[in-house]
Amino acid sequence: MPTLPRILLVDDEERFRTNLQKMLAAQGFEVTAVDSGERALEEMARQLYDVVLLDMRMPAMSGLEALAAMKKSHPDAEVIMLTGHASVDTAREIIRLGIEAFRRRDPQKVNIPDHQSVALAGFSTEAIVGALSKVDKEDPLKPLIDNIVAGNISGVCLFAGCNNVRITQDENYLVMAKELARENVLLLATGCGAGAFARHGLLTSEATNQYAGDGLKAVFTAVGQAAGLNAPLPLVLHMGSCVDNARAVQLAVAVANRLGVDVDKLPVVASAPEATTEKAVSIGTYAVAAGLPTHLGVIPPVLGSPLVAQVLTQDIKNLFGGYFIVEPDPVTASQKLLGAIRERRAGLGL
Ligand code: SF4
Repeated sequence: MPTLPRILLVDDEERFRTNLQKMLAAQGFEVTAVDSGERALEEMARQLYDVVLLDMRMPAMSGLEALAAMKKSHPDAEVIMLTGHASVDTAREIIRLGIEAFRRRDPQKVNIPDHQSVALAGFSTEAIVGALSKVDKEDPLKPLIDNIVAGNISGVCLFAGCNNVRITQDENYLVMAKELARENVLLLATGCGAGAFARHGLLTSEATNQYAGDGLKAVFTAVGQAAGLNAPLPLVLHMGSCVDNARAVQLAVAVANRLGVDVDKLPVVASAPEATTEKAVSIGTYAVAAGLPTHLGVIPPVLGSPLVAQVLTQDIKNLFGGYFIVEPDPVTASQKLLGAIRERRAGLGL
């Protein structure tokens, strides 16, 4: 499992320091607590911390002085200031220190590749149905359903979500897309994850030829030819931003209605392999509530509430049929999603 952030807590008030340390440790964080800015700087020289919680008012070195020193020695340090005496001037000073530290960041660590990729993007629900209607004008969903039933398309996976600095950028997306496509899973993508596929050439017909299983390749080639592409559809169909996931669910609902079942019976899954923001938690919960087994490559920031954690990881399946799969390893995650797809196919007698 991914490790939680290592925290350095800096506060001169012993009772507050001890209580906060206990509360954070109870949530699984590794916390080192010190009582002064000087001790904090010594600690930071000794080992790396993901986050520093820094009290503003301390007797010797103030929080602002400590922040200035930290930003000088560790420009990338994430520091959260704690104070019961906030003022606009102090906030301005903190922002100024952050901007100065940004300028001091090591440019060697910034990698903007000189590389261009081709991407065939922007498949709305209507565009996908439109392409399918070139195969069957009267009943556009029929080719999709027939190929799911025949097993040429084993299932559907919607990739959504962000990049996360804790994971080598794009890696989980790429590994999982190739693993699933090889098993004839039709891939949809929204949000920054779709950007990952665009950067690495997976929104192309060439990627379909290179990575799709035989069944998926045959279907995408037939639909691409019928739609006038003279090539297969791209390996991953980009459906918009991360708030456009309703488009994929709309398609799933249309298929479910045709089959006469609920969405939570379909071989449709979702994945946010590099999720990072709070918005991603709500989007993931939406996918689960829609009935989809939903993979997360990182632990979402929900552990602060035992009730929320329990509902999201245990109770939710009984409520909606969908559930979360938290798995950091992309190959294992692909296997788990394929397992969920096979289970649902078996449930439909396929
Ligand atoms: S929540 Fe933000 S970072 Fe994540 S996919 Fe959406 S836009 Fe990108």
